[in-house]
Amino acid sequence: MATTDAFVGLGSNLADPTAQLARAISALAALPATSLVAQSAFYTSRPVGPQDQPDFVNGAAWLRTGLTALELLDQLQAIEQQHGRVRKQHWGPRTLDLDLLLFGSETIRNDRLTVPHCELPNRDFVLQPLLDLNADLALPDGRSVADLRQRCPDNRLKKLPPFSRELQPPC
Ligand code: ATP
Ligand code: CA
Ligand code: CA
Repeated sequence: MATTDAFVGLGSNLADPTAQLARAISALAALPATSLVAQSAFYTSRPVGPQDQPDFVNGAAWLRTGLTALELLDQLQAIEQQHGRVRKQHWGPRTLDLDLLLFGSETIRNDRLTVPHCELPNRDFVLQPLLDLNADLALPDGRSVADLRQRCPDNRLKKLPPFSRELQPPC
């Protein structure tokens, strides 16, 4: 089966964000025709857009998939819905946001999908997790993720200690 290496950005700032991201990564690993190559550390960051909302927790996942980019987007949106995401305010608080950051070396522009994700060069909370996954990553136009990370605005990223289910209080 032909596969593509895809990078997915994860974000949450509601309802125990770190656990939301951990569950989302398990859901990504279970997608059809897809395997999880690696996951990044998680980071807290100040929100973009409206400031009257909690800080975000962000991370990224490296997938190897036989799905097309649109099939993968469908799956990402289904996982968001399963996590109770309600779309209200643009850039507002959310339980889970899954963005398709990179899909192989493809450049995609259609009604539903822009890849690479259009805000990728401007977001340290996306670029740093990508660097954790692969320090040599580059965009289809050749720009290196490491270089973009050095130039992008500062959202006061803080790396979180590794997530451990054992540290969660019992339900
Ligand atoms: P931003 O795109 O600035 O991170 P957002 O994540 O809050 O904002 P959403 O409301 O989650 O935006 O998504 C709006 C639409 O963006 C989705 O319905 C989807 O069709 C479209 N979209 C375009 N490109 C992508 C991509 N690379 N990954 C995910 N969604 C995308
Ligand atoms: Ca987003
Ligand atoms: Ca999104």
